[in-house]
Amino acid sequence: MVSTARSPVIPAKMQAWVLGNPGALELIEKPVPHPGAAEVLVRVDAIAVCATDLEVIYHGPPALIHGGEPFNKNFTPGHEYMGTVARLGAGVDEFEVGERVAVEVHAGCGRCERCREGMYTACLNYGMNYGDRDKGHRANGFTTDGGFAEYAINHVNTLVRVPGGMSDEEATLIVTAGTAMYGLDVMGGLIAGQALVVTGPGPIGLMGVAVAKALGAQPVILTGTRADQRRLELGRKLGADHVVNVHAEEATAAVRRITEGRGCHYVLECSGAPNAVNEAARMLNRGGRICLAAFPREPALIDVAYLVSNNIYLFGIRGEGRSATRRAAALMQQKRFDASLIHTHTFPLDEVPTAIRYARERVDDAIKVVVKLRH
Ligand SMILES: [Zn+2]
Ligand SMILES: [Zn+2]
Repeated sequence: MVSTARSPVIPAKMQAWVLGNPGALELIEKPVPHPGAAEVLVRVDAIAVCATDLEVIYHGPPALIHGGEPFNKNFTPGHEYMGTVARLGAGVDEFEVGERVAVEVHAGCGRCERCREGMYTACLNYGMNYGDRDKGHRANGFTTDGGFAEYAINHVNTLVRVPGGMSDEEATLIVTAGTAMYGLDVMGGLIAGQALVVTGPGPIGLMGVAVAKALGAQPVILTGTRADQRRLELGRKLGADHVVNVHAEEATAAVRRITEGRGCHYVLECSGAPNAVNEAARMLNRGGRICLAAFPREPALIDVAYLVSNNIYLFGIRGEGRSATRRAAALMQQKRFDASLIHTHTFPLDEVPTAIRYARERVDDAIKVVVKLRH
């Protein structure tokens, strides 16, 4: 682990993308930031585009900059990055310059009730990191500058060592796998030997399949639409025992068939479809659990009576809490699944808008689009 790299020369300025009006990004020069106490400066080596980046860039929330919308505030988005430790802030001895690290998004304030309970992605001081209200909360790419830049600042709590031999591209997916892991954590069940359905084969859904399988879920069922055919095939490679094209077979009926009428124990809902909760409830056996990891833009109608009368538990997750990212990295280090399968496209830093377009419009069946920096 000990790096032999000498302290690298760090320039005073860096290239960084900033968000202007909704949907508009501009590449500018910014000063390279300085790490404070318990922080490090990370040289960004690769960053993946996430669906939430698209929300931020085109609509604003959940980004919250200076207490408001993120537009025209010199804000750099992007949160699924990895890189090399370039400089240590005061008091940091957990990492060394030259180490490769992946990042978690959220550094909670550490002083609110939720942070003290380990729920730092649900920090009660979210976005209170400006002016005289600096509570210490950081969510890079949401409330503080993110990784579509040459350098970024991270709190040591948000760094995860990249296993040796793992590519930069795969390392950007550690946080995605961590989010899926957190979804399984919050449902709080036994997982091994229990039936789990993942609805929606986006990156988190596919990592949900992989992590659930690595933890011993049986069977693992993945549902998607006709347009998701390539993703469903990847789901099989990542560990799904069954994939269901909901245009060919109604999803709840398919789950009942596969589980011989018993229904499943868990649904990890990653589709954001308006009727997803109702369908998930009908896939479960009585007492089953749903974790919501996606959401429709409009409010959805939910059959509450069905949930109550069947003792269905409903959970939501935000991000990648409870050190799930570090544990997901451990599964990847053990080669329990090959996350790099979902990486489909790579672009250089000066083509971030193209990378975002590929992710947004699923150009050429894009799943995970990665921006790789040249140093
Ligand atoms: Zn993300
Ligand atoms: Zn907090």
